[in-house]
Amino acid sequence: MPPSATSQPANIDLLRIDDQLTSEERLVRDTVRSYTADRVMPHIADWFEAGTLPRELVPELGKLGLLGMHLTGYGCAGMGAVAYGVTCREMEAADSGLRSLVSVQGSLSMYPIWRYGSEAQKEEWLPRMAAGEAIGCFGLTEPDHGSDPGSMKTYAKPNDKGWVLSGTKMWITNGPIADVAVVWADTPDGIRGFLVPRGTRGFTAQTIHKKMSLRASLTAELHFDEVKLPADAVLPGVTGLKGPLSCLSEARFGIVWGALGAARACLESALDYACTREQFGKPIGGFQLTQSKLAWMLADLTRAQLLALHLGRLKEAGKVTPEQVSLGKMANVRTAIDIARQARTILGANGITLEYPVIRHENNLESVLTYEGTEEIHALAVGQALTGLSAYR
Ligand SMILES: Cc1cc2nc3c(=O)[nH]c(=O)nc-3n(C[C@H](O)[C@H](O)[C@H](O)COP(=O)(O)OP(=O)(O)OC[C@H]3O[C@@H](n4cnc5c(N)ncnc54)[C@H](O)[C@@H]3O)c2cc1C
Repeated sequence: MPPSATSQPANIDLLRIDDQLTSEERLVRDTVRSYTADRVMPHIADWFEAGTLPRELVPELGKLGLLGMHLTGYGCAGMGAVAYGVTCREMEAADSGLRSLVSVQGSLSMYPIWRYGSEAQKEEWLPRMAAGEAIGCFGLTEPDHGSDPGSMKTYAKPNDKGWVLSGTKMWITNGPIADVAVVWADTPDGIRGFLVPRGTRGFTAQTIHKKMSLRASLTAELHFDEVKLPADAVLPGVTGLKGPLSCLSEARFGIVWGALGAARACLESALDYACTREQFGKPIGGFQLTQSKLAWMLADLTRAQLLALHLGRLKEAGKVTPEQVSLGKMANVRTAIDIARQARTILGANGITLEYPVIRHENNLESVLTYEGTEEIHALAVGQALTGLSAYR
């Protein structure tokens, strides 16, 4: 049948990869999809334009059991890695900013407390964070130290009462609204993590404005001006860069999946547009060049989805390595941004307006390409795994 203005785009899960999900994982998928369809999609373009994401979404996400969902105990849902990945995918199909909020809360703020915190720290923060009553942020990057966090200047000096923390952290997601900051600082013993509650004297968070990407996400610069912290503010369970890097590995796994949600949304939008937009007397989806674009977008998305699912099952088996996550983050974000860019061309001029989701996703993915390890840094991690040679410096 020739394409017509009313032809319906096919289900883009052509290989039926989602059939590999368990019934519980499919339930999570459908729950998140229906939540974002109801609560996020009607407003997301406006939130993106205004540069905001309403805080009241956070307790709603808590009620759905999505905050720290891959952790156990303390009110966390204790779900598997693939269920977490599917959640990230469906969140990011709405917006990377929403997925970032969930990633930072669960993987970068709750995870370090859950893995390295004292019992008292866990009891104090995790149940409230799982419920979305308290929001966390993760302060590693500094204005002059991004890809090389080991050279950080933020310093925590021990004294007889506890610690004195000084320094600046940059680009901190959730920073403007966080109730607790997990801050990584150098100490005489090496890098340690500190829990700094909002309102602590000398701690300020300044919202970063004028972002052209991840606008529906709140980002801050955190300042610590000789902040006095009690001795028990430190996470007792880890010293060294492996602390923050292990958290990042958790969050990057979410990105491996999340980026595919953005890519899928772009492909769906382009497909829908291609089947309805007419030029030269027929739908543009009826032109071979458009179909070739769509076919390659689907092929790339399908491969990337298989990679994500495989990594997820490896993670559930306790076998995943940081290099494997680097490979997944590097490959899948590149795939997603390529799909977004191709989708943009199919929408023509409409591809640059917030009336359609594509430019929003494309711009968001520019941040996703950079944060939690740039594409180049992950290439170096994979390169080192391949050659045994470190090329970082
Ligand atoms: C929207 C957003 C949210 C963020 N949220 C957080 C957060 O919540 N918490 C947090 O701690 N950080 C956060 N970040 C910071 C992010 O992790 C850093 O931006 C990232 O690590 C890169 O650091 P940089 O921007 O300083 O770039 P740089 O490190 O200065 O890198 C600039 C360029 O040089 C390249 N480069 C650097 N070193 C090498 C090398 N050895 N070999 C080859 N190329 C190299 C990089 O790949 C990149 O292309 C966020 C960033 C953004 C944009």
